[in-house]
Amino acid sequence: MKTKFIFVTGGVLSSLGKGLAAASIAALLKSRGVRVTIQKLDPYINVDPGTMNPFQHGEVYVTDDGAETDLDLGHYERYLDVPMAQYNNYTSGSIYNTVITKERRGDYLGGTVQVIPHVTDEIKKAVRDVGRKGEDVAIIEIGGTVGDIEGQPFLEAIRQLRSDLGKENVLYIHLTLVPYMRTAGELKTKPTQHSVKELRSIGIQPDIILCRSEVELAEDIKAKIALFCSVEEDAVFSAVDVDNIYKVPLAFYKEGLDQKIAIMLRLPAKNPDLSDWRDLVHRLENPKGRVSIGIVGKYVDLTEAYKSLHEALVHGGVANQLAVDLVYVNSEALDPENVQKRLQGLDGVLVPGGFGYRGVEGKIMACGFARENRIPFFGICLGLHCAVIEFARKVLGLSEANSAEFVPETPDPVIYLMTEWYDVRNQCLQQRDRSSDKGGTMRLGAYPCVLQGESMACAAYGREHIQERHRHRYEFNKAYAEQFEARGMILSGISPDETLVEIMEIQDHPWFVGCQFHPEFKSSPMQPHPLFRDFIKSAWGYRTRGSLASEGSPAA
Ligand code: GLN
Repeated sequence: MKTKFIFVTGGVLSSLGKGLAAASIAALLKSRGVRVTIQKLDPYINVDPGTMNPFQHGEVYVTDDGAETDLDLGHYERYLDVPMAQYNNYTSGSIYNTVITKERRGDYLGGTVQVIPHVTDEIKKAVRDVGRKGEDVAIIEIGGTVGDIEGQPFLEAIRQLRSDLGKENVLYIHLTLVPYMRTAGELKTKPTQHSVKELRSIGIQPDIILCRSEVELAEDIKAKIALFCSVEEDAVFSAVDVDNIYKVPLAFYKEGLDQKIAIMLRLPAKNPDLSDWRDLVHRLENPKGRVSIGIVGKYVDLTEAYKSLHEALVHGGVANQLAVDLVYVNSEALDPENVQKRLQGLDGVLVPGGFGYRGVEGKIMACGFARENRIPFFGICLGLHCAVIEFARKVLGLSEANSAEFVPETPDPVIYLMTEWYDVRNQCLQQRDRSSDKGGTMRLGAYPCVLQGESMACAAYGREHIQERHRHRYEFNKAYAEQFEARGMILSGISPDETLVEIMEIQDHPWFVGCQFHPEFKSSPMQPHPLFRDFIKSAWGYRTRGSLASEGSPAA
């Protein structure tokens, strides 16, 4: 079967959960035995979100092949359990980049290069190529809202694709908002009508309208939307607010959305098996207890900046049937006087990834607090760096130890910039100039790692060879390895060629693990990441063993 396409557009306003809707539709089709892939088309001009501020745009999601992508790809992987790659995410910038490179090379043979057809052709090529593994269905999510200037070439391209690929192979789903007016006590369909009108003015007639709303749409409201927007009456669906994102697939199923899609696209779909989704929701709703985890970071005002991390902690809870309460602690506000007050009562401390010196001393303090008080600790990327710096200063007595990222002239650069390392994916030696760290190449994407048999890391994974995703420049400086190991902070994960240190842990501690990679990118609710699972398990152990006070620790 040739790949069929479902295009998901959004109307009225942003943040309606288009990414989650696309991911949920994908999960439902997968449960019916349909092979699915997803792609995100982002209208912004950045070539990728790698350079964008997570404060503004949310996290940068990294794939195995080292692509820096939109955070919606994280949802896709979590709902589908299929790895995404660079070709699952294009931006206007990346499309224009290709067109301009071709123009400079003379590929257009002297022709005038225009949005239609040159840019739209490049978009269509990207879309058509996404089902390269022979998937039955490709879901294409168009970022932004219908009516945005930047989104127009994408909409024009997907309009053309219906004639190119044949009506029976293309389905348009439009997600809109149906607001509930409390004063009038009714749902309002006008914004939806306007949004569909806008879509039709550029030649796209939606087949299905998905209405985000506070309450379920009654049949007469659906009929009204169908009439005004020229869709079949049973092609209007409620996407009602749910209290947990993992309930969305079941909510769509209850509405019959996947069945309608299967009929409209004539998919050979079997009856869905949703037992794993039901089991997941059951576990989420019936925890045997709660743990509270402190995330000591900089972007605490915008939890979107830690999207995958947040989800991975939830998954760690699911694996232990525990609810996880996340407490965001602003590292910039931590000082030696208040650190105990701010962190006590937490069952686990997590220091996530990040860039720049701001707030780092607070994070280092949090690492020390967790180490000394034997609170389960998980450091990720920058979090590992902070734990290493703290250990060097307090245990090894290297009082000025630091990362060369923050203090380049530090006498003890326990974290430093490697000038060359072997890039496993591109099979080449990567080199960079230590004098220009900003322009330096990042270590991106999946790298192999070998675990030491006797370690918390190996106990978690249950195997010795793993692959995890990276996004950083700085590394642990192996010149200090012996000193660290002699005092009990061991190198428990290392690259096969033994040059790159991937995991470090403190042996005489209930659970103190720092990793150079980002495990949160590979966690899903159906397959919780082993490190998050064990971190939450140890937090539960800490909670049930007793608080700081009952252990008679310095915090008592
Ligand atoms: N800033 C650090 C580096 O570049 C850590 C990056 C991260 O946490 N992802 O190495």
